[in-house]
Amino acid sequence: MPFVKELEQEFASDPKFNHEYLWFLGMDTFNKRAPEVILGKGSSALLEGRAFGAQTVSGTGALRMGAEFLVRHLHYNTVYLSAPTWDNHPLVFGYGGFKDIRSYRYWNPASKSVDFDGLLEDIGKAPENSVIVLQLAAHNPTGCDLTQEQWTEIANVMEKRNLFPFIDAAYQGVATGDLDRDAQPVRYLVQRGFELFVAQSFSKNMGLYGERVGCLTVVLGKGRAQDATNIISQLKLIARALYANPAKYGAEIVSRVLSDPALMEEWKKCLTEMVHRIRAMRTRLKEKLHLLGTPGNWDHITKQIGMFSYLGLTSCQMEYIRVTHHVHLGSASRINMSGLTYMNIDRVAGAIHDTVT
Ligand code: PMP
Repeated sequence: MPFVKELEQEFASDPKFNHEYLWFLGMDTFNKRAPEVILGKGSSALLEGRAFGAQTVSGTGALRMGAEFLVRHLHYNTVYLSAPTWDNHPLVFGYGGFKDIRSYRYWNPASKSVDFDGLLEDIGKAPENSVIVLQLAAHNPTGCDLTQEQWTEIANVMEKRNLFPFIDAAYQGVATGDLDRDAQPVRYLVQRGFELFVAQSFSKNMGLYGERVGCLTVVLGKGRAQDATNIISQLKLIARALYANPAKYGAEIVSRVLSDPALMEEWKKCLTEMVHRIRAMRTRLKEKLHLLGTPGNWDHITKQIGMFSYLGLTSCQMEYIRVTHHVHLGSASRINMSGLTYMNIDRVAGAIHDTVT
């Protein structure tokens, strides 16, 4: 993003740029600002001192550190992931110490949308004190998000069965282009009084993939602010044992952006542009398939949201499109929409058409 490049030039030309280690849980400014992005500046949890952030090695680090804390200190044993999910989730939670890794249904191949009945049934049967990992927005890999009504129903079940929400916010802003709108489900859960963890990532929404900037945001229940000190000291030990100190450079960039209203505006503008471009590609791909007369219904391409879509091709068709057209898709025909451009979209549509017919 252009404002990131400008900040980098500024850092590069600053002879006093500090190359010291950060402390175990990262930069103070970052830890103050990142939770505001996800919970909202006026969040009562933040104002009451019962929510705080710990800088991590991106979203993956936040998931891993949160998982280890839940197992080591709160003795959780069972975690539920969506089926399908980001393929690293089972590994992260497994190495984090969870012995019992289960899944809840998420994708309905017939409707090419969320299998909500299946989801509710599965988490409704989860043993009490299970951890439920829920992707906040722009679900990877299906591109299908939950509606507010669905979040409400999930919250009802989680409350009734004493389940712990672990929110994976790897794509905040990438679903609708609006950081606040995408964060709504977390804010709703906090408002309902849930204690929860959020794994935040700035990889996608600020284009800082390699810099590894993330945050484990912890929200405690009402009246439990005094527990923050103990939790922080245990998180410090986990961070020390994993990598000692998180990375500084990306956190400097993100902290500057989050502390400067003008840079925040620039960031929001870039996010909107990014999301509009991806939406334009979705529309164009669907139109192109209609124009070609490709059999099947392709409405899911524009109904799905964020960077990914499940096209709904069979494994046989995926093999054909790869070998014949050299169009490479993720497993279960996941397409990364941000890889489509006006230069290659006609070729991709043509390849899908040929494969399906
Ligand atoms: N969660 C999900 C759902 C993801 O797709 C990813 C990255 N692909 C991550 C977490 C972690 O991303 P990072 O470590 O780059 O923040």
